[in-house]
Amino acid sequence: MDNNAQNEPGDQRGDHWARLDAFLRTDPRDAGCDEAMEMLDVYAELLAAGNDPSKRFPDVRAHLLACGPCAQDLEGLVSALTGPDSSQPGRP
Ligand SMILES: [Zn+2]
Repeated sequence: MDNNAQNEPGDQRGDHWARLDAFLRTDPRDAGCDEAMEMLDVYAELLAAGNDPSKRFPDVRAHLLACGPCAQDLEGLVSALTGPDSSQPGRP
């Protein structure tokens, strides 16, 4: 019994490995959840004010790019800072 169809080198497995690789290989500048959370309000304030916090906090930015939950928290903070009128027009 030859199951060589399952042994294609590269195709679907390549995607799996790429994702695992991305998961394992953290950016050396990645600040980690704890530090990102500490800087998150400052980061959000800079963003909300129209500044570019990624230059001042490249390590936090690296983490936000890699960590979905933290990026969501940042989004929430920024929309709270920029006011509900732009993002939620239906609210009283
Ligand atoms: Zn995180």
